[in-house]
Amino acid sequence: LKTEILSIGTEIATGQNLDTNSQWLSVRLAEAGIPVHFHTTVCDDLEDNLGVFRQAAERADLVIASGGLGPTADDLTREALAKAAGVDLVHDEASFASIREMFTKRNREMPEQNKVQALFPTGATPIPNPNGTAPGIWFEFGNALFVCLPGVPREMFAMFTDWVLPRLRERFGGGRTIVYRTLRCFGSGESHIEAMLGDLIRRGRDPEIGITASEATISLRITGAGATREEAFAKTVSDAAFIRERLGDLVFGEDDDELQTVVGKLLAERGKTVATAESCTGGLVGHLLTEVPGSSRYYVGGAVVYSNELKTALTGVPAAMIHQHGAVSPQVAEALATGCRERFGADFGIGITGVAGPDGGTPTKPVGLVYVGLAHANGVEVVPYNWPAERSAVKLRSAKTALNVLRLHLLKSR
Ligand code: ATP
Ligand code: MG
Repeated sequence: LKTEILSIGTEIATGQNLDTNSQWLSVRLAEAGIPVHFHTTVCDDLEDNLGVFRQAAERADLVIASGGLGPTADDLTREALAKAAGVDLVHDEASFASIREMFTKRNREMPEQNKVQALFPTGATPIPNPNGTAPGIWFEFGNALFVCLPGVPREMFAMFTDWVLPRLRERFGGGRTIVYRTLRCFGSGESHIEAMLGDLIRRGRDPEIGITASEATISLRITGAGATREEAFAKTVSDAAFIRERLGDLVFGEDDDELQTVVGKLLAERGKTVATAESCTGGLVGHLLTEVPGSSRYYVGGAVVYSNELKTALTGVPAAMIHQHGAVSPQVAEALATGCRERFGADFGIGITGVAGPDGGTPTKPVGLVYVGLAHANGVEVVPYNWPAERSAVKLRSAKTALNVLRLHLLKSR
């Protein structure tokens, strides 16, 4: 069984709009145990659409298309599908009635051109669209079943979930459900984590475990398959436990967890607060912390102290210290952390200073060298690290490292 996802629209092909429909559909299909082998994007051109439909009809068993079902001249999906299959377009009265009703409900006159949305290739089944005018098309052609849906994500989601998916499950699902479980790690590299897990990350293993990295966050995804969701989930349990035991504190959460959500939860649980003094990250730690709803319970605020003068004026870093050790130094990270903790009145203070690059590096202080200070009731600790990378990556990794230093401290002091 091979599935092809088709995205139709010049705005997608040109990159003006991001094709999020393909991603969404692929995830839903995978969850239902229906494998996707192809993603194709095509512009609003009749010949190109014909070619893409014919190719899909040959190489795939199931084709899910989105876009091109609107009423305007550049909406070609109906026409291309009928042409590719060599059948006529026929008017469907029931669909026409619901399109008209959609306009009546909105107190608007139906434009003449919307009539084309009630046209279907002979033999097709209309898919109702409760949120818009364009009905979808369910159509067998060549070796494949074609399911054509509108491009508007909200309309497409509802039609796929409520009408299409149950029918696909019945026909292709083989009664299998797939559950993905992701363990999220921070604090070590991808290859090191892979080595710690030995034989676990082997293709073809059941359940399969995949490893991916994104800005120093490592994700381990366990794929469990079973007849029901519960059965599929049960398949992941022992591996998840094993990974947690092997990696310990490197694992910070699961699925949608981010370092800032986890740190926020720990702070809220303990009734503690944090303040920040950021140089090279320019406020990114504060931004990440405030991404989480309810962060006002534990984040008091911070200062972006980019210049030496502001480091001194706002967070009390002695000018002489900056002069002696340089702005990028463990001493200054420590002073930033203690300074913001005391001046802003928080239980924890985070100070960050480093060389974000691409310029400004020296042999002793290269680009990517960052010091993270954490001040707490019992003192202050400084973590140095060096991750030469592109500027935005250095900033993001530094900010994540700061959150991680705080997370590890909170775990230790439990
Ligand atoms: P419909 O079939 O519903 O008429 P259409 O392709 O005719 O869709 P467009 O005007 O091209 O309508 O697109 C409608 C909206 O849906 C636009 O905002 C477009 O960016 C969005 N859209 C279309 N295809 C995709 C896609 N693959 N991923 C995300 N958004 C999409
Ligand atoms: Mg379009």
